[in-house]
Amino acid sequence: MIKTENLFFRYDDEKDLDKFALKNVDLHIKDGEFVVIIGHNGSGKSTLSKLLNGIYYPTKGKIMIDGLDTSDENLIWEIRKRAGMVFQNPDNQLVATIVEEDVAFGPENLGLPSEEIRKRVDEALESVKMSAFKRKPPHHLSGGQKQRVAIAGILAMKPKCIIFDEPTAMLDPSGRKEVMQTIKHLNETEKMTIVHITHFMDEAVDADRIIVMDEGQIVLEGTPKQVFSQVETLKKIGLDVPQVTLLSFELKALGYDVMSENLTVDELVNNLCQLK
Ligand code: ADP
Ligand code: MG
Repeated sequence: MIKTENLFFRYDDEKDLDKFALKNVDLHIKDGEFVVIIGHNGSGKSTLSKLLNGIYYPTKGKIMIDGLDTSDENLIWEIRKRAGMVFQNPDNQLVATIVEEDVAFGPENLGLPSEEIRKRVDEALESVKMSAFKRKPPHHLSGGQKQRVAIAGILAMKPKCIIFDEPTAMLDPSGRKEVMQTIKHLNETEKMTIVHITHFMDEAVDADRIIVMDEGQIVLEGTPKQVFSQVETLKKIGLDVPQVTLLSFELKALGYDVMSENLTVDELVNNLCQLK
């Protein structure tokens, strides 16, 4: 679904020609995968997401989205239709005064017939469990609900893939949970390819694969167990690990024979119960 090869990117206003915001990024994301990208502030995550969506073009290297080259300006709308983006602040993404009109905005721009638009709007709102709010003004909704409406707006374009750039960063815990449940539902039930950028480590635990970025490069990649067991490497680049993993790591350092790959409370409890 997504492929980058030897990708380099330097911002236009960067005076130092050797300073790249992205360096040598090789990314291969398969159809239907749920990939989480983590990395501290300034590591290049948002830059990467904007390149994937054709907002910026590679300085060097190549990006293919569903077989389409993002450097080809003629393909840009087709690429954005196939790989939608959801950003941090839902208020910046909602344009209409009524929820259903907002969700209809994308398909209207695609020039679809009105029955098709209606059908897509209803399905998209159903999918994010916001049908009951379709006649409400977005500013009456909670942060999590607004973000779900923003997701419905993307779904109504029928993308194959959605790239989420810290969609939960501005939400309270219950809003975060709603949005994460929606994202997982889209991946598991609707088989959508998901790229989820986050700085909340607990949101990465269920991913098929985690990609860790630092200073514009991919520095670690693997299953959640493979990545989070690298506690020291993650700490070195300023990242936390899930609490259970950290506790396992510290118990191990104290001499207990605990596995360093525990990610959930249940796994750690089982592991401790089996110790002699
Ligand atoms: P992240 O999303 O991981 O926090 P970004 O992709 O926003 O990281 O930033 C990566 C690097 O690119 C940082 O060093 C940042 O200062 C720089 N950068 C981001 N946006 C711009 C811009 N519009 N112009 C110049 N440099 C930028
Ligand atoms: Mg960012």
